[in-house]
Amino acid sequence: MPQFAADLHIHSRFCGESSLQMSLQNLLQWAPRKGIDLLGTGDCLHPGWCEELSDLLVEDGSGLLRPKQGGALRLVLTAELEAIFPVEERNARIHLLMAVPGFGAVERLRSDLGPAADLGAEAIPSFRMPAAELVERILNASPQSLVAAAHVWSPCSSVYGSKNGFSSLAECFGGLAQDIAFVETGLSSDPGMCWRFADLDGKRLLSASAANSLRNLGRECTLFSGELSYGGLTQALKGLPGTFIQGTIEQVSELGPYFFNGHRECQIAKSPIETHFEGRRCPACRKQLTIGAFQRMLEVAGRTPEELDIIVEYGWIRSRRLKVPPFRKAIPLQKIIAATYGVKGRESHTVQNLYEKALSGGNTEREILFDLAEADLAALVGHQVAEAILRVREGYFRITPGYDGVWGQLEIFEERETAELLQLKLF
Ligand SMILES: [Zn+2]
Ligand SMILES: [Zn+2]
Repeated sequence: MPQFAADLHIHSRFCGESSLQMSLQNLLQWAPRKGIDLLGTGDCLHPGWCEELSDLLVEDGSGLLRPKQGGALRLVLTAELEAIFPVEERNARIHLLMAVPGFGAVERLRSDLGPAADLGAEAIPSFRMPAAELVERILNASPQSLVAAAHVWSPCSSVYGSKNGFSSLAECFGGLAQDIAFVETGLSSDPGMCWRFADLDGKRLLSASAANSLRNLGRECTLFSGELSYGGLTQALKGLPGTFIQGTIEQVSELGPYFFNGHRECQIAKSPIETHFEGRRCPACRKQLTIGAFQRMLEVAGRTPEELDIIVEYGWIRSRRLKVPPFRKAIPLQKIIAATYGVKGRESHTVQNLYEKALSGGNTEREILFDLAEADLAALVGHQVAEAILRVREGYFRITPGYDGVWGQLEIFEERETAELLQLKLF
C-alpha cells in the first residue's frame, strides 16, 4: 500500500510571525527535501497567499493541489482560525485547524466568514463567536471540510490549555464535538500524553510542524498509508475505512515551549511536582505561573502510563491497550548539530552549513535521523554529529524542559566532551 508523509500545519510569509522566506516557491523546494509528500498550504483564507497559491498550483481532481511546475508533491488548502468568546468571567480563545477540498471551498468560506474577520490583515483570522459556531459555519460553507482542535494542550489558545480550562471537547464545542474528528497534539505534547485522556478516545491524533520557517518544516509530521487524495485524507482523519494513519513523528515534547510551568520574564521553570509543593505563583515576582501542557494533562487525564501498557518496538512507541497508531520521537537535526557544538542559536553559520551539507546528500532529514548507518552519517556530517545522532536514537540525551514560551534545552554530550571538541577545532 502506498505511504505518504504529511505536514498539515504551517504558516506562510503573510503570517506576522513567519520568515519572509515562507514563499510558495521556496516551500515547493523544501517540502521534498524534508520528506514531505503532502503539505498543508496554511493561511488559505488570506487573499494575498491565496493568489500566490492559485498562481503556482492547480487542482489535481481529487481535492488536492499540485504544482504547475510538476513533481510528486501534493498540497491541501489549510488554515488556522481563532474563535474568541466569553465563558463565565473570561474570554476563551480557541485555535482550529481546517483543511478544505479546493479553491471553490475557499471562496465560499471567504464570502461566508469574511464579514466576521479581517482576512487580509491577519493570517490566523480571529472570529468573535463561540468555537462551536465557527466549526458549524466552516462545515456549512463546505461540508467536506476537515476541522481539528489545534495544539490541544498549549496554554493560551487551545481546548484543554490552562488559560481556557475546558476539561472536555464537549464543554468547548457542545454537540459539535463529534465533528472534531481529529486533534493536533502540538509541539509540547505527544500521543503518549493524549492517550492518557479518555476524552480523546476515538479521535485521530495529528502531528504537524506549525512551521514559521523553512527549516522547521516537517519537524513533526503524520505518516499515512493509502491513497494520496483528499478522499484518502478524509478517511484517515475521520477513521473511515480506507487510508489510515500509520504513525506520527513527534519532536520530543520536553523541548516544546509550553511543557513545564513557569514565568518567562523571571526565567522561572517548575515541574508539576515543584508546583504542587511551592504553589502557582512566580517566586520572583508573585505573578501567576503559566501552567504548561504536562501539568494540564495530569490535571484532567485519568489514566496512568501503566494502564496504557506501553511498549517500544524498533523505535516506535505504542500502547498495547489502545488500538491507535504508534509514534516515534525525534529531535530536529539542526538542534542536534547545535547541541553537539554547544551553540545556542540554530542560526549560527556552523549549524546552518552542516545542516545544508547533511541535506545535500539526497537523504531526507527523517532518513538521516532514523535510518542512515553510522559510517554514512559520518561521511555526511562528520564523526561528532554522527555520534550525536546515534545517541539521540538510543535515548542518551538530557533536556531542560521548555516553559512559558521558552524552548527546552538539549544536551547530548557532557560539558567535558564539548570542551574537547572545541579544542580540536573540528568545525
Ligand atoms: Zn495556534
Ligand atoms: Zn515572575
